[in-house]
Amino acid sequence: DTTQQPPYLVGLNPSQIEAVTQPSQTITRVIAGPGSGKTRVLTCRIVHLLQQDPRIRILGVTFTKKAAGEMQKRVESLLREQDAMHHDPYGDMNSFLVQTEDSTGDPSYSAPPRDLHRVSLGTFHSICSKILRWNGALLSGLPSVAFDMQYSQNATQLDQNFAIIDQSDQVRIIRELMNAKKGDISEEIKPLVILTAIAQIKQQLAQGENPFASGGRNKDKPPSFVSKLALEFYPKYREELLATNCLDFDDLIYMTRELLMEYPHIRAQLHQRWSHILVDEFQDTSRIQMDLVKLLTSGSLLVVGDADQSIYSWRGAHASSLMDFEEELEGHPSGKMKTVYLMENYRSTSNIVKAAQKVISSSQESKSKSAADKIRQEMKPKRGSGPSPRVVACADAKAEAEFVVDIIKERLRSGDCDSTKDVALIYRTNAQSRALEEACVKASLPYVIFGSATSFYKRQEIKDTLCFLRWINNGYDKSSMLRAMVTPKRGIGDAALNEFDAFCSESQIQWKDKSTDPGPSPLDVLLSLSGPTRFDEKMFFDPTGILSSRSLKPLSAFSQQIRSICDEARRKPVEKLLAIIESELKLFEHFDKISKSKSEFLERKANFEELQNAARKYTDEGPALGKPNGEANDSELSTPLGNFLDDVALVTDVLDAAKDGDNDSFVVKLMTIHASKGMEFETVFLVGNEDGTLPTAQAILEGEGSVQLEEEKRLCYVAMTRAKTELLMTWRKEVPIFTKEGIRTVKKTRSRFLDVLVKKADSEAVKGEKGERNNEKKATGTSHVFQKKSSASDPITLGQGRRQYSTFQSAQAKSRQALNSSQRSRKLYDFDSRLP
Ligand code: ATP
Ligand code: MG
Repeated sequence: DTTQQPPYLVGLNPSQIEAVTQPSQTITRVIAGPGSGKTRVLTCRIVHLLQQDPRIRILGVTFTKKAAGEMQKRVESLLREQDAMHHDPYGDMNSFLVQTEDSTGDPSYSAPPRDLHRVSLGTFHSICSKILRWNGALLSGLPSVAFDMQYSQNATQLDQNFAIIDQSDQVRIIRELMNAKKGDISEEIKPLVILTAIAQIKQQLAQGENPFASGGRNKDKPPSFVSKLALEFYPKYREELLATNCLDFDDLIYMTRELLMEYPHIRAQLHQRWSHILVDEFQDTSRIQMDLVKLLTSGSLLVVGDADQSIYSWRGAHASSLMDFEEELEGHPSGKMKTVYLMENYRSTSNIVKAAQKVISSSQESKSKSAADKIRQEMKPKRGSGPSPRVVACADAKAEAEFVVDIIKERLRSGDCDSTKDVALIYRTNAQSRALEEACVKASLPYVIFGSATSFYKRQEIKDTLCFLRWINNGYDKSSMLRAMVTPKRGIGDAALNEFDAFCSESQIQWKDKSTDPGPSPLDVLLSLSGPTRFDEKMFFDPTGILSSRSLKPLSAFSQQIRSICDEARRKPVEKLLAIIESELKLFEHFDKISKSKSEFLERKANFEELQNAARKYTDEGPALGKPNGEANDSELSTPLGNFLDDVALVTDVLDAAKDGDNDSFVVKLMTIHASKGMEFETVFLVGNEDGTLPTAQAILEGEGSVQLEEEKRLCYVAMTRAKTELLMTWRKEVPIFTKEGIRTVKKTRSRFLDVLVKKADSEAVKGEKGERNNEKKATGTSHVFQKKSSASDPITLGQGRRQYSTFQSAQAKSRQALNSSQRSRKLYDFDSRLP
C-alpha cells in the first residue's frame, strides 16, 4: 500500500526497496549497470537509516566532491519531505529559531532539516584528511612516518596543520629532483611516470613488501630504469614533504589506515562517530581503501557498484573489491550479508543502452564475469527507443569542435531547447578541451569545465588581484576601484568611500573648468592625496570640507601605499608588478587571514604565483604600460598589462555567463570521462573516438585483451552511458603531434571500440571523403564525414532530422574573422592548467 510508504521509498522498484530497507546490521552489496539507480538507492538508504534510530550517524563516501555535494542536496530534500510528514513541534521550533537568527540575511533561507547533521558525506580523501587532522598529535608517531623521519634531516614535526599537495606540486618536486640529475635522464621520461612508480612503491610498503630489497616492482622482470629512478627519488621526495609539513593524496589514505590499525581507541571513537558506512562507485575502491572501509565499519555497510565501470585500475583500484566482496568481509563482526541486483535502466533510451552494451560486450574480461554479464543481458531499458546514437568523422580537431558547437547552436536557434539544456562534451584527456573551448568562445556559447582546478579566474584571491590590476591599468574603472579600496581591509569604510566619491566628483568639476581632456581619474584623485600626480603640480584638490579627518587618514595612507605601485606600473613587466603589489599590499598576509587552514593559504599563494606565471607571457612583447607618464587614458594604450587583462576578461566573461545564469539558462558542460562518472546528461558528445586517443596509443601497444585496453573500453562505456536521450560520437581523421622538431599531423582511424556499431558504414565514410553526399543511417549508428572543405553547394546532412548544416559555412567565415582573438585566447589557455 503505497499511501503508507515513507516519501523516500515512493517510486522505487522492489529490488531498490529491498536494498534500501535492509535491517540496520546488514552488509549489503548492490551490483548493477549504469543508470539503474544505485546512487539513488544509496541516498534513500541514508534517509531510511536516519529514521531507524536517533543515535544513528552516517558516513557516505562518494567518488568526487561534486557527487558529495549533489548527494547532500538530495538527502536534504528527502529529509525535508520526511520532516513535513512528521510534524514535530521541536523541529518547527528549531527551524523557527534558526530562521529568526538569519532574518537579516538571505530571504530565501530556510533552516536545514533536523537530521542532516547526522550525515557526513565526502570522498575518501576528504574524510581521511579530517581524521588525520583530528589526530594531528599522533601523526609523527605513526611507524611509517617515524621511519621516514629518521632519514630525513630537515624533517620537522608533522602536525594537524599539514598542507595537502596536489599533482602539480608533486610534479614540481620530481622535476627538481630530475634537474639535479640532468644528463642522466632522457627527456622522454616524464615526471608523472615517476610519480606513478612512486605510488607503486607506497602501495608495496603499505602492504608490508619491501621494494628496496627486490629493487623494483616486478620480481620476474628486471627493474626498469624508471622504477630504479623512483626508488632513488622516493626518500628525497618523502624528505621534501616531511620538511614542509605536507602530505600528498596517497598519504591521506595510507596514513589513515595506519592510524586505525595502530590505535584501537581511535577506531572505537570513529565507530562511535559513524555507525553506518555507505560507499558509492565501489568498483573503483583500491585495496587500501577497502581496508579502510573494513576498519571503519561497525554497524551496517552498503556498497554499490558496477564492475564494467571500473576505470581507476591505474590508481590501484580493482573491481574485485566488488566481486570478491563476500570473501573480503567474511566473518566481519557486523552481521549478515546480502547482494541485490538491479535490472532496470532508468536513465537512457533503449538505443543508447543497446549501443553501449554492444561496446562493452565485446570485452574480453566480461566473458568471465558471469554475474555482470547476466545483468547486462537482462538489463531492461525503462525509457523509449529514442534517436540512434551517431558516429561522425571529422577532418581534424578544429572541425570536430566546430561540428559540435554548430549542432548546439543550430538547436538553440531552432528553439529545440529541451534537449540542449543539458549538453555535455566528454573527452578522454584534458588537452582535448582546448579546441572545444575555443569553439565555444568563438560561438559565444557559455561553458563550464567540470573537475578540479577549473575556475582559476573565479578564485577569491585571483579576482581580488585582477580587480586591483584592472584599476591600476584603468584609473577610471570605478567598480574595480570600489572593491580594490576595501580589499584587503585597511580601515576604509562605507563613510570614507562615500566621502571619497563626493571628493572625486568635486575634483572632476574643478578640473573641467581648466581643460578639455577627460581629466583626472578617481585613481589620480586618490594619488593627489599623497603628493604630485601624473598631471604634476597642475593638479591639486583640496579635500577640506569634503573628506572628514577620520576618512582622510586611511585614504592618505592608501594613497601613499599605491603610489609606488603606480610608479612601478609604468616601468615594470606585469609579472614584476604583481610581486610589488604583493609586497606593498601584504597580499600573502591577507590570504592567510581569509584562509581557514594552512593548506587553503598555500593554495591561494600558489594561485597567485600561477597568475604571475600567466602574466610572464605578456612581458616579452615590450614594456608594461607604454611610456612613462603615459598620456591621457592608459586603457587606450595596447600594453602587455592591457593585453593580459583583455585575455583574462575573455575567459572570465564566459565563465561569468555560465555561473551567474540561473538554472534555466544554457551552459555547455565540458569534462573528461573520469570526471563524468556517475553523472547524466540529456545530450552527450563523446569526442576524439580514434585509435590513439580512446583507446590511448599506450593501451594499443599493450595489445588486444590487455588490462589497459580493457580499461579503455570501460572508459568508452562509462562515457556512452552518461547520455539520457542523445549520443553523438565524433572522431578526428588527423591529429597533431608535438615533437622537438615541431608540430606534425598524423592520420588516425576510428576507434576500434566503435567497430561493433558502424562496421558497414566504413565505406560510407570513404565515399564522403570523395565529396559525395553522405547521409546513410544504420540501425544502431550512423557514420558521416564532417569536413571543413565542403562547399556551399554540398551541404552536409546529418542523421535523424536531416537538418541541413549549410550554416556551417558561415560559421567558418566567422571563425576566420575570430582567428585573431582565438590566437590570443590560445595563449591564455596555455597557462590555465587543468587537472583531471
Ligand atoms: P551510474 O552507474 O552511472 O552511477 P546509477 O546506477 O547510480 O548510475 P542513478 O544515477 O542512481 O543510477 O539513477 C539514474 C537515473 O535514474 C536518475 O535520474 C534517477 O533519478 C533515475 N531513477 C533511479 N531509480 C528510479 C526509479 N525507481 N524510477 C524512476 N527513476 C529512477
Ligand atoms: Mg551512480
